[in-house]
Amino acid sequence: MKTVQARHYHRGRISPVRLIVVHSMEWAEKGTTAEDCARMFATMSRPASAHVCVDNDSVVRCVADRDTAWAAPGANADGLQMELAGFARQKRADWLDAYSKALLKQAAAVAAGWAKLHRIPIRKLTQAQLRAGLKGFTTHADVSVVYKRSDHHDPGTGFPWDVFLDLVKDALDGEDDGDDEIDVPEWTRALSWPPTTKGDDVKVWQRQMRKRGWSLDVDGWYSDADEKVCRKFQDEKHLKVTGTVDEATWRAAWTEPIT
Ligand SMILES: [Zn+2]
Repeated sequence: MKTVQARHYHRGRISPVRLIVVHSMEWAEKGTTAEDCARMFATMSRPASAHVCVDNDSVVRCVADRDTAWAAPGANADGLQMELAGFARQKRADWLDAYSKALLKQAAAVAAGWAKLHRIPIRKLTQAQLRAGLKGFTTHADVSVVYKRSDHHDPGTGFPWDVFLDLVKDALDGEDDGDDEIDVPEWTRALSWPPTTKGDDVKVWQRQMRKRGWSLDVDGWYSDADEKVCRKFQDEKHLKVTGTVDEATWRAAWTEPIT
């Protein structure tokens, strides 16, 4: 996943993640739309951003999950925001053409990782459920209605929620038809802010490393001690020794044989 850091966002979070908020960019469907939108978030003066921008062939990370994107007032503090190439005026059939199907698959993979990490149920919330504070998926449109702080209505009424949520479930199941398929949780970011980094994904990694026999606290804080374990593990597995849990290091925690 490419990263193009957005210009406007809040560092950190003031609430635990509760929502996955789906947007349409209102940009035409091209192979570079995710990249183009990310570049806009990186440079524009208008204060707006999203965690990821998605098109048919790529996902571009704009804001780290641990930070707060500015996408849907009312659901920024506890939301993860995804911008999809396309328009809110698209009908169901438009969301199911070849381009959009490929896009939905890309988006579903990201959403599955988020859902797993933050224990978000694979369901589209009603406006009443959103208002009641339940966890799940929602739209900018519903956030606008419930919190009345914006008038956007993306991704539109044609968005195929049934298809999208099925793709998310598929992505969660993975290809576990295979015999020895190892279930590696989705890696969403580098744990590269020692020693005060805190998060659910830090905990997931700590739990896994502990299972492997390393002695560390499963407390969700990436501490100096964790960094030391990380370096030793990287050295042992002939990975680049950085002390931060990059994607290769994360994967190795599940896929490398325990020695
Ligand atoms: Zn929106």
